[in-house]
Amino acid sequence: MSQHAKVDDIVVSGRSVGKTFANGTVIALKNADFDIKRGSFVSLVGPSGCGKSTLLRLVSGLIPATSGEVTVHNKPVTGPRPDISMMFQKATLLEWRTSLENVLLPTEIAGTITLADKNRAMDLLKLVGLGDFVFAFPAQLSGGMQQRVALARLLQTGADILLMDEPFGALDEFTRERLNTELMRIVSEVGATTLFVTHNISEAIFLADQVFVMTSRPGQVAKIIDVDLERPRSLSIQTSPEFNNLVADVRETLGAV
Ligand code: ADP
Repeated sequence: MSQHAKVDDIVVSGRSVGKTFANGTVIALKNADFDIKRGSFVSLVGPSGCGKSTLLRLVSGLIPATSGEVTVHNKPVTGPRPDISMMFQKATLLEWRTSLENVLLPTEIAGTITLADKNRAMDLLKLVGLGDFVFAFPAQLSGGMQQRVALARLLQTGADILLMDEPFGALDEFTRERLNTELMRIVSEVGATTLFVTHNISEAIFLADQVFVMTSRPGQVAKIIDVDLERPRSLSIQTSPEFNNLVADVRETLGAV
């Protein structure tokens, strides 16, 4: 009984996952093994080119693995699926649509928009702090606000696995820290399982329940570090000895390979 409960708790798994490009000449990812628990927040951290985005795209089903297997809810990922949604560094909002209309875009693509969909989109815009900007156009919003719209749009899909590829990477540090704090609140409120790519070690630890430390040549998950810091977390936690021990652990893993 308890064993079953344990298996059900794992949402995404990788078994010896490998990915090569350019007829096998570029090894983007080698032998990745991991299990991601339901509702957990996983950060993928590592230098540029170590396979972070590749791992995310493999989980999303956008690209197939060359070897090994990625499973979601114990079934192999064979292509994009409705319970997985992805967000990128650029908000990619449609300039001629309001925040609300941008958030409703995935619903519109999937079919007709109901009143319930509209109400949900309004609620999500409130959740991301844009209750007063529902009818604003992207040009009227700052970069951080545009990413908030993109986050609401991500949540509007109803996906419970969220893949985020450096979503706040293009924003100034102050805005990024604020959005990170809010992101933690939001994903725990909606109960989503989140994979978050970053090359910022502190950000990776601050957000996560687990940090996948990735190294390059070839790209691999060199170490999985559990982050047992209490939640909710505030930015000041970054000055604690526990936090700094985790930073040292990540740095050592990155430097040791
Ligand atoms: P990261 O996200 O950590 O910066 P990526 O996953 O984007 O790294 O890339 C890992 C490696 O795979 C890099 O060497 C990159 O150049 C290569 N790569 C990624 N996508 C492709 C592709 N479509 N064609 C060829 N090489 C690729």
